[in-house]
Amino acid sequence: MRFFDEKNVLRFLLVAASVFFAAFIPEILSTKESAVWAVPYILANLFLIVVAVLYRFPIIGNKKRMRNDVEISPPATTVIPTRDIKKDLMERDELFQMMVDISSNGFWTFDVVTGKVYWSQRAIKLMRADSTGIVDTFDLLKDKVVDSDWRRFTADLKKSLETSEKFSVELSLLEDASKLVISGHVQVNSEGRPIRIIGALNELSDKQAQEKQNYYYAYQDALTGVYNRKFFLEKLKVDVDMALRRPDYLFAVALLDIDRFGAINASYSINVGDNVLRIVADRIKSQCRSGDTIARIGPDVFAIVIHDIQTADNDSDVKAIVRRIHNAVKLPIQLEGRELYIGVSMAVALNREVDCVEDIMANVTSSLREMKKGVQHGGIQFFSGGIREKAMKLYKLEFDIRRAIQAQEFVLFYQPVVDIADGNRVSAFEALVRWNQSEKGFISPAEFIPIAEETGLIIPMGAMILRMACLQAKKWVEMGFSNIQVAVNFSAKQFALDNMVEDIKQVLLETHLNPKNLKLEITEYTAVCEAEKTITIMKALSGMGIQISIDDFGTGYSSLSYLKRFPIHTLKMDKSFIDHVTDDEEDASFARMVIGIAKSLNLDLIAEGVETESQLEFLRAEGCRLIQGFYFSKPLSAENALEYLKKHYEPELQTV
Ligand code: C2E
Ligand code: MG
Ligand code: MG
Repeated sequence: MRFFDEKNVLRFLLVAASVFFAAFIPEILSTKESAVWAVPYILANLFLIVVAVLYRFPIIGNKKRMRNDVEISPPATTVIPTRDIKKDLMERDELFQMMVDISSNGFWTFDVVTGKVYWSQRAIKLMRADSTGIVDTFDLLKDKVVDSDWRRFTADLKKSLETSEKFSVELSLLEDASKLVISGHVQVNSEGRPIRIIGALNELSDKQAQEKQNYYYAYQDALTGVYNRKFFLEKLKVDVDMALRRPDYLFAVALLDIDRFGAINASYSINVGDNVLRIVADRIKSQCRSGDTIARIGPDVFAIVIHDIQTADNDSDVKAIVRRIHNAVKLPIQLEGRELYIGVSMAVALNREVDCVEDIMANVTSSLREMKKGVQHGGIQFFSGGIREKAMKLYKLEFDIRRAIQAQEFVLFYQPVVDIADGNRVSAFEALVRWNQSEKGFISPAEFIPIAEETGLIIPMGAMILRMACLQAKKWVEMGFSNIQVAVNFSAKQFALDNMVEDIKQVLLETHLNPKNLKLEITEYTAVCEAEKTITIMKALSGMGIQISIDDFGTGYSSLSYLKRFPIHTLKMDKSFIDHVTDDEEDASFARMVIGIAKSLNLDLIAEGVETESQLEFLRAEGCRLIQGFYFSKPLSAENALEYLKKHYEPELQTV
């Protein structure tokens, strides 16, 4: 204890004052008649002595002590926010508010104790928010950004309060899809507990020129300059979120697909193909409204989001835009001194009754798919509910086909090809696939082959079919039917596979089948689609000794000059021309013409779908000797085909 501290000096002064008063008492007693006059002096004296001895001077003494002695300060955990501390906090908040308001950046703070948020004027402006209402909560931000971004922000904020890590989140504004970046930094007390978050809010483009550049590259299609798929889907999400908040908000998605774009690349060059894509992108841009989003989302597929459709008759508004685009894009293209004609298919879906990106995309893609399959190919298809139902059915079918491939539910039936000029002997069988489904029985290929082709499932399925057919042919050969041929249908997708020739060779090796017992059928359409490639493959196959037939001949408009270049062996006249040979003179003369073509090119001709005796007699009279059709036999199971073979096979004769 120090002797000359402030308290002791005060005590000393009080004692001195009391001595001073005591000095008057003897004089009063000697001059005044009554001793009562001395009482006040005595009391004052006593009072001063009591105060000097007993009083503890707490305020001055304690304050001094706390400042000097750190150890005795109360632990932070015991500090309960008293009125003074709250006041202190409020003063500090005001200070912060002033700081953030004078800042030219978007600036914000969140006070963990009070739960209040302070936004700078710039931040409020960046959020496109109203500064006149309640502005001290995060709701201000929540109302302005897309839901998914808001959820990401709150999750990061929570995590950062737990870990004290900095965070930074990109936000898309609902109003105009522009991007903001919100970042935050947690301030902690001496115990490491978060007391405040101080953060910035900036436009993404303000943030860093480099970042903006990266963003641009990440979202742009380098070839055409329009946006890419990623950006398109993000923009679409903004619109979907907007429509969820504002039920009156309408937008549409249009897909534009260039028909047979692969043929342009194959027939000209990749360069020409690239230029066509650039021109198409420019034409779409020139027809769209300035705010609409245009993107290339597939090799030859463009997508357009027509935002915020405002007119009274929304449908006709969208229709007008889409027709404008369609008309502009399909105009002839002048390239490298040539005039190119392109077909364009478009599908459109409005956001009615959808609440997610996946739904509207499913609607518009099913519309496009529907159109590309049908007669309207090259037109415009508007989505309707029926299409979606159909798409769902197709989706289920695709799933079932996948399962059926695994479960080996596909079996082959065999339809005989009969030589009527040679005692109706069977010269070949066409292998026709059937789906043996447990509940429904046998399902026709017409129901599942198109889906298998569209989804690419035809490739594993086709490989399986080829192996099954080769194994069956080998069995018949081993039984003594050494010249029998089995014809296998090949789809365009299978035929386009790079290693197709090698794969077939492999199957023949594995099944030990002589190539002369195998025939491949490809449709006329497949053959002419990528003629040059087809010719190369055909040459390789016929070099191996495999025969090739052109199926459904007459339906694909192939020119004679093409046919001459194909190393083929057989034409199969389509059933549709046989149906009316006896009652329609036009069909009859067409059939005569096809028979003439086959003769002049020295090709075999099979008439498909012959059902009646009169059709048969017509064909016989015109010199067509190979017949396939119900008149002789429907497609047969392997066992029944063997029975047929036993009855109608002439081993010593040559096959076709
Ligand atoms: P396609 O290759 O032209 O086969 C001929 C179709 O005509 C077969 O139908 C056959 O059953 C039918 N047909 C034959 N004669 C007659 C007749 O006299 N009257 C009638 N009404 N029909 C007759 P299927 O088996 O339903 O096959 C339909 C199409 O499915 C085939 O046409 C072929 O394009 C495709 N397909 C069948 N099997 C396969 C396969 O294994 N792979 C591939 N890629 N396609 C296949
Ligand atoms: Mg066929
Ligand atoms: Mg056919």
